[in-house]
Amino acid sequence: MSEIRKDPIVDRWVIVATERAAKPVELVQQARTEALQTCPFCEGHEDETTPEILAYRQMPAATDGGGWHVRVIPNKYPAVTAQGNSKAAGGGFYHQVRGVGSHEVVIECPQHDTNLAELSTKQVGDVLTVYRDRLRGLASDERLAYALVFKNYGALAGASMEHCHSQILATPNVPLLVAEELAGSLQHHSRSGLCPYCALLAEELAVGSRVVLETTRFVVICPFASRFPFEMWILPRRHASHFEEQDATELTELAASLKSALRRLGAVLNDPAYNYYLHTAPLRTAAMPHFHWHLEVFPRLAQLAGFEHGSGMFINPIRPEHATELLRAALD
Ligand code: AMP
Ligand code: ZN
Ligand code: ZN
Repeated sequence: MSEIRKDPIVDRWVIVATERAAKPVELVQQARTEALQTCPFCEGHEDETTPEILAYRQMPAATDGGGWHVRVIPNKYPAVTAQGNSKAAGGGFYHQVRGVGSHEVVIECPQHDTNLAELSTKQVGDVLTVYRDRLRGLASDERLAYALVFKNYGALAGASMEHCHSQILATPNVPLLVAEELAGSLQHHSRSGLCPYCALLAEELAVGSRVVLETTRFVVICPFASRFPFEMWILPRRHASHFEEQDATELTELAASLKSALRRLGAVLNDPAYNYYLHTAPLRTAAMPHFHWHLEVFPRLAQLAGFEHGSGMFINPIRPEHATELLRAALD
């Protein structure tokens, strides 16, 4: 019989229906494009992108020249732009604000033919440091309330460019899913006096069956109410609501954990398309005792269908405990 599990923080229900795993799912191989010669994200093609916002270079060199190892550029086809104010327009039935914000692309490495999981821990650490530095930078723009760091890997995950990259999209509002986590965790905290993510970590470490890996500072789990097969959350053990607070040691260790999680995913599912995103506290907020930043990762194995869109519930054919076993064993 299936189980209906509830996420401990938000009112989100998942039907864990292992019978559905019998349904044949052919993992779709990713089509590789012939973009290598013409990719604007490759080193040497800097003049084909918008001028850089930030780049890490070993040696001092000209802005928009080569020699970088991570580079941040404004998205050439942005969903939101930095012009204008974010004041609400109209006062009628509907509510809208201008599409003010910042839409940035983080080019994670200069070379084309690789992916994040295969980069060195140092390089992944630099990518995470760029996330942190951009979150700090975006916080100085008073019009912006939130900056979502996310990655699309593979066409099935929504990627339009093959070259190793992620994005940061900052908006004048706090996105719904983050707002729900903030509200849910606040409610939990006022009831129990505990951060629900700290409580969840204690529970998961005690039970053990959903812990994919743990390091001194980070834990990777398959969440109890995983929406998707092989969904993973990476959480810092030390309570912290803001990713921006992470220091160099923490970011290096996070890089190793992220890399290991992605390599395991790649090994179990044969290099699947995936997304990840960072849920951290909104910009310019004070430290929160109830909220705990985390990174959510999941492979894109199936399209969301009518039931998911219509209900906000999810059907997961693989028990997270089973996914954990496979992910744990993947690199052994
Ligand atoms: P994704 O859609 O996740 O692959 O992200 C790639 C992003 O890069 C897209 O949102 C594009 O709008 C953006 N993009 C494509 N070409 C360029 C370019 N030459 N300079 C800056 N951004 C670009
Ligand atoms: Zn490239
Ligand atoms: Zn916590």
